[in-house]
Amino acid sequence: MKKQRRIIAGLILLFVILSIIPACAKDINIGIVYDKRQTKALEENVDLRLKYRNAIEKNGGKVIVLSVLDDNKTTAEKLGKIDGLLVPGGADVDPGRYGDSPHQHLEEVDMALDKYEFELLGYCIRHSIPILAICRGHQILNVFMGGSLYQDIPIQHKSDKKVTHRIRKKGESQICFHGIVVSEDSLLYKLHKKKQMNVNSLHHQAIKKPGKDLKITAHTDDGIIEGIEGTGDQFIVGVQFHPEKMRIKKPEWNKLFKAFVDEAKKWKKKERQ
Ligand code: MN
Repeated sequence: MKKQRRIIAGLILLFVILSIIPACAKDINIGIVYDKRQTKALEENVDLRLKYRNAIEKNGGKVIVLSVLDDNKTTAEKLGKIDGLLVPGGADVDPGRYGDSPHQHLEEVDMALDKYEFELLGYCIRHSIPILAICRGHQILNVFMGGSLYQDIPIQHKSDKKVTHRIRKKGESQICFHGIVVSEDSLLYKLHKKKQMNVNSLHHQAIKKPGKDLKITAHTDDGIIEGIEGTGDQFIVGVQFHPEKMRIKKPEWNKLFKAFVDEAKKWKKKERQ
């Protein structure tokens, strides 16, 4: 009897393992970058990247936490698993990365994060892994591609037309909204079929000189670049606004995440099988 039970238990275990393996193999793994503070918070079960995580998970992706605190071996292992890279919002990019000296209105920078994200971007570009870059992500992607940034829009960007890209109240940044003009030759247009859209805005830096192999896909009336895409076959999309926040009230913003996860799925099918 005991032997029989052991055999049954063994068979059940084998069945469970066999059913898990294909499920894992089917996962579309999207790496999301976590900085030092976000990694520490996650250890306490507080996910400061929850809106990005939800946007990926609700659209068919599985999140892999790419932490700036990971050692080289862990980073290499995780990069070997991802099918897409999401570079999210955050601190200012060190102007030294684009050959500029710090302006007095430059805010918090995180050089370790700059270095880490450069490594991730380099890997994903070498391997044609789909990239979705949001806010700071969109800016560092541009810098990685050889472009530059305005360190502070109100001080450094001159325009006859006034567009507010961030509201500051009592030292706190607050989100605001503005229109964008979308070019027809873009993923944003393909997804939304709109030449003009209203988007949120929470940034004081912006792209100055676009990097190589990038095209501008959206801008505001004051000429600030709000969308970029790669000119090649690889899925490389950058947006200055925050679709991960907008999708909560406007489900149409799931389309961008869905398109990204679908591309990751295609990449996986092509590259990993
Ligand atoms: Mn803006």
